[in-house]
Amino acid sequence: MIVILKQNTSENEINNLTNSLEAKGVEVSKVKGKDLIILGLVGDTSKIDHSQIEANRNVERVMHVQEPFKKANKMFHPEPSIIDVNGQKIGGNKIALIAGPCSVENEKQIIGIAESVKGLGAGFLRGGAFKPRTSPYSFQGLAYEGLELLKIAREKTGLPIVTEIMSPYDVEKFNEEVDIIQVGARNMQNFDLLKELGKANRPILLKRGLSSNIEELLMSAEYIMAGGNENVILCERGIRTFETFTRNTLDLSIVPAIKKLSHLPIIIDPSHAAGKWWMVEPLSKAAIAVGADGLIIEVHNDPANALCDGQQSIKPDVYGKLLEELRPIAKAVGREL
Ligand code: PEP
Ligand code: MN
Repeated sequence: MIVILKQNTSENEINNLTNSLEAKGVEVSKVKGKDLIILGLVGDTSKIDHSQIEANRNVERVMHVQEPFKKANKMFHPEPSIIDVNGQKIGGNKIALIAGPCSVENEKQIIGIAESVKGLGAGFLRGGAFKPRTSPYSFQGLAYEGLELLKIAREKTGLPIVTEIMSPYDVEKFNEEVDIIQVGARNMQNFDLLKELGKANRPILLKRGLSSNIEELLMSAEYIMAGGNENVILCERGIRTFETFTRNTLDLSIVPAIKKLSHLPIIIDPSHAAGKWWMVEPLSKAAIAVGADGLIIEVHNDPANALCDGQQSIKPDVYGKLLEELRPIAKAVGREL
């Protein structure tokens, strides 16, 4: 970190600031030029609050030399993290395929879809039991009953289950019963939830917030990792832009960006990004081509009557065809499906 001081800062003021920074455990070296006074901070600056330094009236500007995320940073962990979920790996050579309905609706629906997607090649079953809906009048999910139905579907198919948590009070239960705990876009910065998930030992699927940048996503991963749970899978699900044709704008550039900055795996959710079922296929292909570690896709047996997100859900036969078409693309980028 570099602190630039105003030109007229007195020696006494420089010493006071230097002492207060050294008290935070870093070494400070001073460079005094004709027009500039610069303090270079060396050591672990992760606990130093940038804005607190800027509050000092003698400070002109504070600049980061390193990213503020440490545990998620590739610099300190050059090998990609491969996350083990009951023997299946996410982040390795094999593309992770997560599929299922937006919401668990009833036993027949979730078991039927689970069996279909498993037969087509999916490795994990998704399904929301707790739904973060924009309107309080929309279907809110079956809550704990939905969780029980997911467990039945897991028992019948052997597919690990991925489902969204909304409350920090449910972490213990999810940690016991769910294979991958999903944090939805709307909760990406629910820091109390992230801190609780840091104490869990299940992998966390962390979705990018609607208006969050890449650094904010990595800082949210850092919250979970700082608590001791290093099994974080990042997920791009589209961000809010001025475009209204699609539900969100899929930011595929996040994949190479994350590969440069972090060792964590990143998967793509083309369903919530596009909000249109017919865009799922081309966006999935692009996601694999750009190097994503997996896809989470909404699949429903009867989209026209789905209780949530039918407009962006594909039918099992479309999912099957998509996986077949993805195989050569995966192979072309050195991966397998
Ligand atoms: C979901 O995956 O069901 C969901 C609600 O997604 P997001 O949090 O990305 O909107
Ligand atoms: Mn959905």
